[in-house]
Amino acid sequence: MVDLFSDTQTRPTAGMREAMARAEVGDEQSGSDPTTNALCARVAELLGKEDAVLMPSGTMCNLVSILVQTKPGDEIVVDATSHIFNTEAASAAAIGGVSTMALATADGVFSAGQVEAAIRAPVRTAPRSALVSVENTTAFSGGSVWPIETVRAVRDVAKRHGLKAHFDGARLLNAVAATGVSAADYVEGFDSAWIDLSKGLGCPVGGVLAGSKDFIIEAWRWKYRLGGAMRQSGVLAAAGLYALDHHIAQLATDNQNATTLDAGLRKIPGVAFEAGTQSNILRFSVEGLGVGAAEFAKACLERGVRFRATGAYEIRATTSLEVDAAGVARAIEVARDVAAALRQG
Ligand SMILES: *Cc1c(COP(=O)(O)O)cnc(C)c1O
Repeated sequence: MVDLFSDTQTRPTAGMREAMARAEVGDEQSGSDPTTNALCARVAELLGKEDAVLMPSGTMCNLVSILVQTKPGDEIVVDATSHIFNTEAASAAAIGGVSTMALATADGVFSAGQVEAAIRAPVRTAPRSALVSVENTTAFSGGSVWPIETVRAVRDVAKRHGLKAHFDGARLLNAVAATGVSAADYVEGFDSAWIDLSKGLGCPVGGVLAGSKDFIIEAWRWKYRLGGAMRQSGVLAAAGLYALDHHIAQLATDNQNATTLDAGLRKIPGVAFEAGTQSNILRFSVEGLGVGAAEFAKACLERGVRFRATGAYEIRATTSLEVDAAGVARAIEVARDVAAALRQG
């Protein structure tokens, strides 16, 4: 099967499993798991931050960052398509008592002007705008890569108004592969930033959250309050270290495979792209075929290619280490055949 459903479907490779099996372990909760400590130091350095903490998930990296840097009654500013706003079970509101200002954009990339306009005037009847979150690359709006100038302008406007700046870098390393801008440059001046281990990097679980020493002290408190402290987490951290050593180059390959897939699918009559593909996620419409996305995805799955229906007519495809160049060629062929059959029907 050619699995283009999501890069969350990546399974640990044989080499990764071996590294996990061999991991030196201790007790994470007391700070004595050597492999976890090594991974945290590695990611802190990669992101140019003082310290880092391993979290069970990227979702928890976002929540903990919000909880540390806001108080009940505050408001956060995010994109309307962001993971925080759509798929984190309203945790900022439910646990942090924080409201969300969601900005409307075409591609998940908002401007400094939009942020400035969204920041509340300091009046006694308004919530206090406390934090801005940048998601790069974007997930649900199709893998858009933020221009570094926009990232910096958003950060600067946040700082000018006394807001914290948070960076959801679930796929930051895909953005790095796409642009050559370093991860540290992207998150410079951000108070909190994290990368996911369980997407394109191919680990079974986890995210690593970085920031100042003081931020990480408080992040640890929230991690513990949320029940997320671990023991022999070196088994998981070993997968992260292995991925940083062996899977970074794969992200550039994933981006390239997505570009090839885009070029092939774009030629199919009835298939339409609203925008160009910038990283490892593609988004296209099958409305022109006269069928819904679910029907199209089902017909492709029957032929061994798994796309993801994300709207009435919208399909999302994501490349990862699970899909090689032959898989991309096969996906194009199947989509072409299915589209032809559907058009005839
Ligand atoms: C996947 C994802 C998350 C959550 O990460 P998990 O490790 O799956 O919890 C957060 N933000 C973005 C942009 C994501 O794509």
